[in-house]
Amino acid sequence: MFNAPPLPHCFSPEHEAFRDALRDFVSREITPHVAAWDEAGGFPRDLYQRAAALGILGLGYPEAYGGTPGDVFHQIILSEEMARCGSGGVVASLLSHSIGLPPIARHGSDWLKRKVLPPVIAGERIAALAVTEPGGGSDVAALKTTAVRDGDHYLVSGEKAFITSGMRADFFTVAVRTDPAQRGAGGISALLIEADTLGLSRHALHKMGWWASDTAHLRFDQCRVPASHLIGAEGQGFKVFMHNFNAERLGMAAQACVYAQLCCEEALAWARQRHTFGEPLVQRQVIRHKLADMVARTDAARSLIYELAWRLHHSHGDAADLVGRIAMAKVLASQAMQLCADQAVQILGGMGFMRGTTSERIYREVKVMMIGGGSEEIMKDLAARQWGF
Ligand SMILES: Cc1cc2nc3c(=O)[nH]c(=O)nc-3n(C[C@H](O)[C@H](O)[C@H](O)COP(=O)(O)OP(=O)(O)OC[C@H]3O[C@@H](n4cnc5c(N)ncnc54)[C@H](O)[C@@H]3O)c2cc1C
Repeated sequence: MFNAPPLPHCFSPEHEAFRDALRDFVSREITPHVAAWDEAGGFPRDLYQRAAALGILGLGYPEAYGGTPGDVFHQIILSEEMARCGSGGVVASLLSHSIGLPPIARHGSDWLKRKVLPPVIAGERIAALAVTEPGGGSDVAALKTTAVRDGDHYLVSGEKAFITSGMRADFFTVAVRTDPAQRGAGGISALLIEADTLGLSRHALHKMGWWASDTAHLRFDQCRVPASHLIGAEGQGFKVFMHNFNAERLGMAAQACVYAQLCCEEALAWARQRHTFGEPLVQRQVIRHKLADMVARTDAARSLIYELAWRLHHSHGDAADLVGRIAMAKVLASQAMQLCADQAVQILGGMGFMRGTTSERIYREVKVMMIGGGSEEIMKDLAARQWGF
């Protein structure tokens, strides 16, 4: 019931073999440790290298820079199988390069790609994306961090908030305003800033969930950044960052469905073995209805994700329409996750409130899925705009 047979028009036997290898890795190297890593507020740095050895960090990047070819279905599988560990915090930090690297891979100079891609793909260096500012994240075009040209360098000043892998990252892909005279999307550029740059300071933030992920506030105080670190053309940064979003949102949606499914699985297992008033919980119609709703909502979101992945893969349909549908798939998947986490905790009763159950962790983590990578409100606005209303 929870694992419908693979869809042959999306997933080939080669995709399924990739899934099996990932599932094996995650179940051996990650899942048994996530509760302890959550309590410790982090995971061992060598996990990056172990993931890299399996090709996880290089998926979809050019082979010339150490990457492994992969299509959108490989990306969906990666999101799904990583999420099976049940800790969004581990997944977010381990894969923070999946939002930090694409701007460089797509728009960076060959020199920049050679500098950044191979060590990150090998798990030796960590990459992060720094767009959000204390003054706001949804309205990216309003960002205030400035990069003023000074000879062969830019002088960068400003702040970034809520940056995943912010404490450990070696490379930041940063959204800056290179033309302070221009307001809005014009005048925004993308810049690579290294963590050891003089004038960059950072401090850790404490969160409701994603405890295993480090999240930081960054402050740039007149940081001198070589002009060769510009990613793409000056003033074209907005487009560079917007390119990230389809993949990020589809990946988050696929993860959300797995977190929802984990809640269903834990709730069903509990309902089967927990007896009240002489009967197992699962015999109660009210509990069975909850479980049926949880499975159906998860299935519906997942089916949409697979359909959209298929359309992306085959460039099927209008690109703007697809942007809207992907945005709404993220909304539906995170809502399914929210419903399942809520109902699973309810079915588990007091046990669902205890640290160490998967549902308790996912209940704490669902909010960030509804805020990060484009909040629910912004996703709905975006979809409405794409659809012309
Ligand atoms: C754990 C975590 C990790 C993150 N990691 C990163 C990262 O690695 N890199 C990075 O750059 N950012 C990261 N973020 C930031 C994230 O992308 C932003 O939090 C998100 O984009 C929302 O921005 P905001 O928090 O500034 O909220 P705001 O933009 O201030 O919005 C606040 C609320 O108002 C709503 N809202 C805003 N505008 C409108 C509108 N026009 N109409 C209706 N409602 C509106 C929003 O939906 C939201 O509910 C992370 C956030 C968290 C919590």
